Amino acid sequence: MRVAKLLSGSCMCRSIHWTVKDARIGQILICHCELCRKSSGSVNVPFIALPKSAVWTQLEKSDTLQKYSSSNVADRYFCSKCGSFVCMDYSHEKSTVWLPMGTLSSSKENTSIETILDSTKDCHIFKEDQASFESALDALPREEYFGYYKSDCCSAGKEWDDLGDWKEEIDERATGEDVEDAKT
Ligand SMILES: [Zn+2]
Ligand SMILES: [Zn+2]
Repeated sequence: MRVAKLLSGSCMCRSIHWTVKDARIGQILICHCELCRKSSGSVNVPFIALPKSAVWTQLEKSDTLQKYSSSNVADRYFCSKCGSFVCMDYSHEKSTVWLPMGTLSSSKENTSIETILDSTKDCHIFKEDQASFESALDALPREEYFGYYKSDCCSAGKEWDDLGDWKEEIDERATGEDVEDAKT
């Protein structure tokens, strides 16, 4: 049995938040289906299944919790204030809720997911629905902080072929100063 000593999560604005101690972890699934992609705005959604009894009353406490029935078998829940996708609930699953793992808090006290992954139980699903460009995105360089980000990059005259002070800007940013404040 897999148990998470401590896990916590929240929506972006923290109106919805939860903490579980010694909760049994059902499964971790990374879903590539179109509904998950659309609802999250991302190319896939990793979910962790936790006991409903440990999480649900905490989610319900928030008056910003909003339901959207994305199919006749599942409801998706969002924060009406910040828009975060916080939970998926299958009507036929009485004991389980699925929490998008991007909402997990990065607190050092939390159980590290790396130590509990199990490739005999956890997997990617709906591979056939995967966005055709997902692996191409994944292969792009991974830069620190804002990487190659160019402010207002679609404005006239800003061409990649004409880097100029753009390159300087990127180099300056590599120092990482003031980056935390600039996160949006
Ligand atoms: Zn929120
Ligand atoms: Zn899905």
